[in-house]
Amino acid sequence: MMRQQSPAFSMAAAGAVLTVDLSALRENYRVLKRKLGGVPPAGVVKANGYGLGAAAIAGVLAEEGCETFFVAHLPEAEALRLALGQKPAIHVLNGIPPGAEEECIEWSAIPVLNSLEQIEAWRRAASRAGRPLPGTLQVDSGMSRLGLPPADVERIAAMPDAFDGIEIVHVMSHLACADEPDNPANEAQLGEFKRLSAMLPKAPSSLANSSGIFLGEAYHFDLARPGAALFGINPTPGSPNPMQQVVQLAAKVIQIRELPAGAGIGYGHDFQAGAPMRTATISLGYADGWLRGGAAAAWLEDTRLPFVGRVSMDSIILDVSSLSPDRLKAGDLVELIGARQTVDDVAALSGTIGYEILTSLGGRFHRVYADEEKQEMAEFIRTRWQG
Ligand SMILES: *Cc1c(COP(=O)(O)O)cnc(C)c1O
Repeated sequence: MMRQQSPAFSMAAAGAVLTVDLSALRENYRVLKRKLGGVPPAGVVKANGYGLGAAAIAGVLAEEGCETFFVAHLPEAEALRLALGQKPAIHVLNGIPPGAEEECIEWSAIPVLNSLEQIEAWRRAASRAGRPLPGTLQVDSGMSRLGLPPADVERIAAMPDAFDGIEIVHVMSHLACADEPDNPANEAQLGEFKRLSAMLPKAPSSLANSSGIFLGEAYHFDLARPGAALFGINPTPGSPNPMQQVVQLAAKVIQIRELPAGAGIGYGHDFQAGAPMRTATISLGYADGWLRGGAAAAWLEDTRLPFVGRVSMDSIILDVSSLSPDRLKAGDLVELIGARQTVDDVAALSGTIGYEILTSLGGRFHRVYADEEKQEMAEFIRTRWQG
């Protein structure tokens, strides 16, 4: 099976190709599921599925048995509802902005209720609707970002009718330091989460994001909320990555140049050819989400092709002097993210995290969603563009 999006950016016309390996995504979901024993992993697909396409990603996760999804904003929940139909539970992590409660009901989205105001607004919406409405409570166990602070948990616990009309789906919290297993903040948050949950009506609990799953069973509760690990980002930084790579980004060569010694290369002539050299200009730049001060090489199979000069908006110049002249021509693809330079590698070389690399990916790529036939797909790309 193979799906394609964005007809305006066909394989032939686009400057770069983003391949999402849905088989690897499936495998990553299964790895997390096994790690969780009997606890189900939800799918966190906010920010358009970390830039990879929420509908395609969530569709595959649903096929793997995933029944619960999390997005950040209500409109993301609406798009996902259209893609997935009525069955799955779709949570909105940021909660519902004041005045959007009816829209939330209309789309059968489940708000994450982060504050006394959000709880009260949802309670009144239920009263107007004349029926109980599902909502998930978030408590702040120590990240200080979203959720009821401890004092508000105590206050609301003492108010007998605070949750009238609200059917509490989960009580959840979020870990600030889960990717640092030795950080004492993890255990402190775990303890605080249990203490706060005990004051609230009994409901299934959820604490772990991707990295939280690897902190051990104590963090698993009744539902895990992985995002990054599904997409191949290492949830255990410093240890080998237990996840498979999902993303490949390859850009087309536009033009090959033979440059004399002394040639100034790119904006500001930041680079000067010290000796005669061969360059290739590729069709991808910072407007495509490639950070301007970021990772500075592309790959052709085992050969590293360093960037020379500055990254432009729509193009980058590579030093390809190490390749024999017949190895590369206009239209061929070189790899920017893939097996030789993973999302985490690109992030480390760019001084950021894999999350930012993925969510920065631009809208001008030809997008390929490769599934069982991934071998064929990889073959297709090679023969068509490097043959
Ligand atoms: C983004 C997010 C997640 C997923 O985190 P990953 O590190 O990508 O697994 C889970 N829970 C909450 C509240 C989030 O904001």
